[in-house]
Amino acid sequence: MRSVFVPWGVALGETERLLDDLSRYTRVDGIELLDFHSQIEKANYGAGRSPALRVLPSSGRFGLDLPVVERGEFRAAQRFMSEARSRGFKITCNFVPMWSGSEELIRTSLVDVRGGLLTGPGDFPVHGCPNNPEMLRLGEFMMRRFVRAWPDMDVMALNHLEYPWRIRWDTPQIDVESLFSCFCEACEKSAGEQGLDLPRMKTEVRSLLASLSRPSSWKEGGVPPTVNADDIVHFFLGRPYLVEWLRFRMDSMTRYSRSLIAAGRQTSKEYNPKLRFGMEFQLPSLSPLLGTDFLALSSDLDLMIPKFPDYLPASVIPLFAREVASRGGLDESALLKLLRDAFDFGPGPRRYSAYDVPRHILLYSNAFDYSIVARQMKYLKPLIGRVPIQPYIWENNNDWKSLKRKIEMLADSGFDDFFLWSWEDGISSEHLRALKGIL
Ligand SMILES: [Zn+2]
Repeated sequence: MRSVFVPWGVALGETERLLDDLSRYTRVDGIELLDFHSQIEKANYGAGRSPALRVLPSSGRFGLDLPVVERGEFRAAQRFMSEARSRGFKITCNFVPMWSGSEELIRTSLVDVRGGLLTGPGDFPVHGCPNNPEMLRLGEFMMRRFVRAWPDMDVMALNHLEYPWRIRWDTPQIDVESLFSCFCEACEKSAGEQGLDLPRMKTEVRSLLASLSRPSSWKEGGVPPTVNADDIVHFFLGRPYLVEWLRFRMDSMTRYSRSLIAAGRQTSKEYNPKLRFGMEFQLPSLSPLLGTDFLALSSDLDLMIPKFPDYLPASVIPLFAREVASRGGLDESALLKLLRDAFDFGPGPRRYSAYDVPRHILLYSNAFDYSIVARQMKYLKPLIGRVPIQPYIWENNNDWKSLKRKIEMLADSGFDDFFLWSWEDGISSEHLRALKGIL
């Protein structure tokens, strides 16, 4: 299956045009829809309805606040899925259970190392914690509802089962402290039950953050030219509670994910027995640090969807390098190179160039290295032959040349099928016509 992401505005507003164009110009036979209506469907995070609304029928007497679309919109969504399916397109639901549009659920939010509550992106006031019992109950409830309410769905793809980073796009600047969550009461309770000392872990995370702001003890330029396995082992040996904390986060997320998958599978037996359960996860080399144990979870899933997003090499990693370099007085470009090497992004360009007219949130046009998939294969190797893998790629700024190379890059690593994210302008008639023979 080759699947493209379609925002609800296009799906409902231009149904016939979209399905005709996809059939006429492309080999696409899958359509991915978000489980919510939100302003984040827009490339510029532009004005949209607030709060984000789930594409579900009324939440009935569930007891937790669950903002959903109006009945007419829900019916229109069902009609679209049915129409697309009758024309041979497989429907994937991009389900993000941990983001919530409900202000009432702020108490379930992730808590970072400073004690701040983490919000979701755009019009999601909450990024929930997997250890919070209410968040778990809501996630299982929504999972069951989607399996029942989207009968034309082929793939239920769980997404963003990870701990987030936050970026202020107006500056732009990464909030390094936000990377260090969660220290909420529910986490403390869960850690305590497992005989773990969360406050001690927090102290070690704090001291790591404080050490970032001290002038480096490294020599010339402040950054070593390479980092080898020995350096990494020593880094973690000196921080045993940090290791324990990373493990705790990952196990918490795995438990939460498994509960949702089990709820979905139970419901699908009755309502949609052929439904496949998949998981979209971050770049394989980074996933464990972000709390996603994709290797463990693969035994629960039918489809693994590793992401190869431009926003990591073109925004997140450069902003992280900039922030850490400025705190510790390090050489920013040396640090960026080190991070790219350590996480197998590929070396990237000698000189980074900005977009002439950026439409999407990316700092650089040439930061994506086409060797990235081949480099990441070693992390995916244990999955091969055990569970189907269908990578996720992005098209930004209608850059069809780059998209063409990405599709070739996937083919070189043995992937003919993929998921593609592009924004509204990426699925216009004009652009799809230009993609004839490519997509
Ligand atoms: Zn928590």
